[in-house]
Amino acid sequence: AEELMHRTEKLSVVGQLAAGIAHEIRNPLTVIKGFTQLLSQEEDNDYLNVVLDELERIEDIVSDLLILAKPQPSRLENLDISQLLSSTIDLFKSEAILHNVEIIPNFELSNPWIKGEPNKLKQVYINIIKNAIEAMPKAGGKIYITAQNLSYRKILTRVQDTGVGIPKERIPNLGEPFYSTKEKGTGLGLMICNRIIKNHGGTIKIDSELNKGTTISIIMPAADITENDELGQGPPLPKPDT
Ligand code: ADP
Ligand code: MG
Repeated sequence: AEELMHRTEKLSVVGQLAAGIAHEIRNPLTVIKGFTQLLSQEEDNDYLNVVLDELERIEDIVSDLLILAKPQPSRLENLDISQLLSSTIDLFKSEAILHNVEIIPNFELSNPWIKGEPNKLKQVYINIIKNAIEAMPKAGGKIYITAQNLSYRKILTRVQDTGVGIPKERIPNLGEPFYSTKEKGTGLGLMICNRIIKNHGGTIKIDSELNKGTTISIIMPAADITENDELGQGPPLPKPDT
């Protein structure tokens, strides 16, 4: 356990440093990309397209590092997890069609309320749904997204894909910084998810079967809307019938 803590501490120092550097890189990067785009409009040059592709890759890494650097959630709101999931799924409409992927939501929640930061939680599901789409074979596949109450105060969400799956021995590597099996991956997505869910008092579990698919389960504490709502957000819910 001591070793583990040591490792976590080390990661956070390295993470902060990386984020600081990422911040400094972003501005010159934006300028370089802008001028490269201008050049590629002036002449159709294959080399410039390679440069643009690689610049986009740097942009991905930089924006992931910047998300990691942001401090713990500060502005907590009462949010409806089914609304958050629906609006996140909407973002993938065109990408899903493009990859022949069907996203199938099914929410059954008596208490859908979570105290959290909407943008951060959205980022979690964006990363997970993106991974699910990227894991699909050429023919496409399905993504089942469910949300349910485990108890009145606990919410379980699942993103289950019919993708290529993950070999058992690789599962412990997931969430390590820069661990990616993709040519254009940053290997930061799941690390970001872990961080955000932990800051919301939740846990993430990954189950996978090779060539069958992967399920990412997240359990988060639900807000108790029957208490006096000091945040003044979200309509009150009827008391649970227990
Ligand atoms: P990236 O997507 O940039 O590679 P992530 O942290 O999001 O980084 O994911 C790390 C790795 O975990 C991926 O490269 C992939 O090997 C594996 N992975 C994550 N989600 C899935 C999934 N739904 N199906 C199969 N493999 C996955
Ligand atoms: Mg990813």
